[in-house]
Amino acid sequence: MSTQSRIEWTEQTWNPTVGCTKISPGCKNCYAETMARRLKAMGVRGYENGFRLTLMPQRLSEPLERRKPTVYFVNSMSDLFHEKVPFEYIRRVFDVMARARQHTFQVLTKRAERMAEFGRSVEVPANVWLGVSVENRKHGVRASTCCARSRPAYVFCRWSRCSKTSVRLTWLRFIG
Ligand code: SF4
Repeated sequence: MSTQSRIEWTEQTWNPTVGCTKISPGCKNCYAETMARRLKAMGVRGYENGFRLTLMPQRLSEPLERRKPTVYFVNSMSDLFHEKVPFEYIRRVFDVMARARQHTFQVLTKRAERMAEFGRSVEVPANVWLGVSVENRKHGVRASTCCARSRPAYVFCRWSRCSKTSVRLTWLRFIG
């Protein structure tokens, strides 16, 4: 089920997969993990497996059913490029995004290398923003890896640990 989002840089969330596993220090206080456990405890449909990676093919068509142009954050409760999500399934997600041209899709991952690998075999639709979360100098390397291989790309920069200021979120268009 897609839901209205309280995140300031998006409008709706769409989760064709739910669940994930931790991959970097930035995952320590993962919001999705806390929420997934809570939703499981509440018996919410779709969260029977808690935070275990689960494909949700029944949700694939949701953006196609919405006519109003909308900015979607794809997988607020997961990571589309998680190693347990087959490329064949990711292709189905991209196919929906390509067909739902009225919308803009923000796909954010911490698995830039897998996104780059996938990006070599598909045409990224113009209405899809690919983003990589950059936590610090070390993990920021992933962003350049991604941008060099799949374009157009967007780097989703998040300064929370490497800055004394509060969390700042920015979408940057890759030009190169
Ligand atoms: S990659 Fe994202 S969703 Fe997955 S554990 Fe880390 S913070 Fe959570």
